[in-house]
Amino acid sequence: MSDSLRPEAARAVAERARTFFAAGSTLSESARRKRLLALRAGIEKFEEKIYAALKQDLGKPKMEAYPAEIGITIGEINHLLSGLAGWMKPRSVHTPLVAMPGRSMLVPEPLGTALIIAPWNYPFQLAVHPLAGAIAAGCNIVLKPSELSPATSAVLEAMLVDTFGNDGFVQVVQGGPAASTALLEEKWDLVFFTGSTHVGRIVAQAAAKHLTPTVLELGGKSPTFIAADVDLAVTARRITWGKFYNAGQTCIAPDYVLVDESIHDAFIAAMKSAIAQLFGTDPQSSPDFGRIISDRHWSRLETLKSGGTVALGGESDAKTRYVAPTLLTNVDEKSPLMQEEIFGPLLPIIKVKSVDAAIAFIKARPKPLALYAFTRSDALAEKILSSCSSGGAVINDVLLHISVPDLPFGGVGDSGMGGYHGRHSFEVFSHLKGVVKKPFWMDLKLRYPPYRESLLGLFKRLME
Ligand code: NAD
Repeated sequence: MSDSLRPEAARAVAERARTFFAAGSTLSESARRKRLLALRAGIEKFEEKIYAALKQDLGKPKMEAYPAEIGITIGEINHLLSGLAGWMKPRSVHTPLVAMPGRSMLVPEPLGTALIIAPWNYPFQLAVHPLAGAIAAGCNIVLKPSELSPATSAVLEAMLVDTFGNDGFVQVVQGGPAASTALLEEKWDLVFFTGSTHVGRIVAQAAAKHLTPTVLELGGKSPTFIAADVDLAVTARRITWGKFYNAGQTCIAPDYVLVDESIHDAFIAAMKSAIAQLFGTDPQSSPDFGRIISDRHWSRLETLKSGGTVALGGESDAKTRYVAPTLLTNVDEKSPLMQEEIFGPLLPIIKVKSVDAAIAFIKARPKPLALYAFTRSDALAEKILSSCSSGGAVINDVLLHISVPDLPFGGVGDSGMGGYHGRHSFEVFSHLKGVVKKPFWMDLKLRYPPYRESLLGLFKRLME
């Protein structure tokens, strides 16, 4: 795939998108509904091709591809379809005396043309999920899928062209950083970016030149705290599932574990047994364990491994980009393993003396995208939730908050800004316009010059 987009070509894409939006055909509820239904039908039509592409790009098993790429997206479309009519309605708000008589309301309007830039780890979901939100909000879209998942990016384009034709409603631009950079030179009404914190900064700077709002769905190191009072077998099984899903290449995967020192050894034993249960004694031959996306990421993980002592796993194979589910202890906090997002199947396990030590550890680092805590104690869970800021959180499980459409999915601080899913997607691609409607029948002269200071007391009563 060539990674270049001439500035004139990027300009032409942007102009075409703007012209399409200006014609107004994205606005009505029926048009949005029709396109959402078409998108759902398009996904169903291309389902087998999507599985094959995900297998090719990431060795993704069907039982991960369906829930995390297709099912979640179809569920989102259904949710958008059922909420759309209500969300599009103007929402009345209180009108203070000073604006009476009159009615005040919030009127959602589409922001316009959205540029969506997607990553490779869930290359279908993270392109189509926001795209569905943009359609629901009445926007049109330019989509730049990831160059690192070429098979899925090609199927995405084929599906979208088959579904929407080539009239400017959705335009897919293939390519990597150079293509993104050329597109970001143009003015958009929203840039919706999913990817790394490093590139998120570049995107935000480019968008700022045009005062374009951005939604930044970024990554980071999501911590998992394990108290001494947990059910160890269940905890280990849930963490094993969430950490090694998609071979650890999940933005909200538990990045590292902070475990109460009194159960450290028992936790490691439980993790070993959970890994054997889920992937067998030879995970390389398990059909349920994925592969690393690229040689560069494979080599990166090889280097990261040296930040700790291998307690389980550690094997790898460059040719098939395999990295075994690996547990690391005696972790060097200053090593890259604990400085950068791991984004692979390596799990550092760090002993902590108390929940306060865990909280201090988490708070000394950038605000994570997700935070997980395992404990039977409501008070302890509440203490962690109220002490540590994070994009989202789950108590006694991992990843599951992404599956709840009424919860905004997104980061805070270094892990991003802006949340989406369901109604939050509708809102993030909309502008909520504040509108006041006044009748003509009353027009009090009090507010007009020439002013009379004697009315100041009355103004105070009306306004405070
Ligand atoms: P990335 O930041 O390298 O790339 C993301 C997208 O940006 C790709 O389309 C890529 O072509 C483009 N890009 C790369 N360099 C660019 C540049 N210099 N200028 C403009 N665009 C550029 O991220 P990735 O490797 O594809 O994905 C992994 C990262 O994404 C991880 O950090 C992960 O945590 C994060 N992520 C976050 C979420 C979320 O929902 N918050 C979901 C998935 C992944």
